[in-house]
Amino acid sequence: MATYQVYFLCPACKKKHRAPVHLELQRGPKEEESVQEVFGDRARPPEVDNLGNTRFLCPRKKRYVQPAEEDLTLAREDVSAPATGKAKKKPPARKKSATRSKRSKR
Ligand SMILES: [Zn+2]
Repeated sequence: MATYQVYFLCPACKKKHRAPVHLELQRGPKEEESVQEVFGDRARPPEVDNLGNTRFLCPRKKRYVQPAEEDLTLAREDVSAPATGKAKKKPPARKKSATRSKRSKR
C-alpha cells in the first residue's frame, strides 16, 4: 500500500492545487499521473470514484470547483522513495550537545 496525495488542475485559475485528500492504493503509479492514466477503463476504487463528485476549494479564487477526472492527479507520498534523501532520523543527542556547548562557552 502506498499513500497518494491528490492534486487537481483548477478550472478556475488553471493552477494545480493540492486537494485535502489522501488515497491508499495498492497499484498506484510510481510517478504523478492523472486518475485517467492510472485507471484507464478499469474500475476505480470507491474513494477515487468519489473524487469525480467532489468539489475542491480553489485557494486563489476562493470558490469551489469541480475538476474533470483527467485533471485529477495522484502523486505518491512514499517514505521509502529513494528519490530525495530526506534525513528523517535525527540524532537525539543533538539537543544535549547544543546545551553543553552553550554552557562551555560561558
Ligand atoms: Zn485555483
